[in-house]
Amino acid sequence: MLSEALTAPARLHPPWKPKRLLITPSALSWPHGAAMAGRAAALGAEVVRLKADRLAGLPDTYRDAKSTMAVVVASPSRRKPQPIPPSADWSFDLAEGCPAHCAYCYLAGSLAGPPIIRAYANLPEILDALPPLLGQGQVTSRNAARAAEGTTFEASCYTDPLGIEHITGSLAETIQFFGAWDAEAQLRFTTKYDAIEPLLDLPSNGRTRIRFSVNARGTERFEGGAPRVPNRLRAMREAAMAGYRIGLTIAPILNLPDWPSAYDALLADCAAALRDTPEIDLTVELITHRFTEGSREVLQGWHPGSGLEMDPAQRSRKLTKFGSAKYVFPKALMAELRARLEESVARHLPQARVLYFT
Ligand code: SF4
Repeated sequence: MLSEALTAPARLHPPWKPKRLLITPSALSWPHGAAMAGRAAALGAEVVRLKADRLAGLPDTYRDAKSTMAVVVASPSRRKPQPIPPSADWSFDLAEGCPAHCAYCYLAGSLAGPPIIRAYANLPEILDALPPLLGQGQVTSRNAARAAEGTTFEASCYTDPLGIEHITGSLAETIQFFGAWDAEAQLRFTTKYDAIEPLLDLPSNGRTRIRFSVNARGTERFEGGAPRVPNRLRAMREAAMAGYRIGLTIAPILNLPDWPSAYDALLADCAAALRDTPEIDLTVELITHRFTEGSREVLQGWHPGSGLEMDPAQRSRKLTKFGSAKYVFPKALMAELRARLEESVARHLPQARVLYFT
């Protein structure tokens, strides 16, 4: 039985509208960048043509920054794909930043400066960097269990690309690039957004996996500005029906008071959303909540009083590969979370492959 939330008439989340779009001269010279400025202007944004390529006059309040988009040219170092275990062989960036306001946002510790959205105008140069990496990489290219995915390229490390697609158009271009790339390669991205319709008829040729980031009821209070989970599940169903490979990113898994039943109910909703979809290729990624001293400080500044637990005393301290500390759930709780969630996945979604728990 589909839950009421999934059978209610679809009401799309309103598309994000930037108040201001800044564009550099170099970005404006790329047709892709000029098109972004045109689409933002049509949405009512003030378009500011900068005189130089250096971004100047950036807003310093969180609220103003989150309503600003800058269209720039990705530098050669920014265009260099990076390894991204355990998700994929390589990550590459179409943009940085996101219009939503999640109290746990994983970008907080990764991006420096005010949280504006930077979108890249030189998409052809960004995509040109990918073919030389075919067959290289340490995750899917080297892992027998995931080899069928081919060389994998992750496009959502520093942004939610679907949340800004109505302005950038970059995902549609990238999906078509992979669709036309006659090779064992796969594009992956994760999203909390629901405006999937413009992507449904693209010739993706099975080379894109769209993963929907979902969480248990009770966590939506931490996800300001993002579409509600039933909207994401509807979008996942539509993507599956259109022939996309799909995925669930269950993240961040939180130590909610009723977490076993809350996450079990989430997986039941996911199964209901996928009922009667033909031959889906479905993966699941399970990611527990973690934070660093740096991300905690940034997030508490952005979202004071969010109520999200970020108490080092309740966590285990672990060193990252870069030598900095991160705070994760204690070992016993991690083991319990893993066992219960994997059991719920197996029961509700027996066709799914769990890629990793972290
Ligand atoms: S949707 Fe994702 S990227 Fe955007 S604010 Fe939320 S956690 Fe951050």
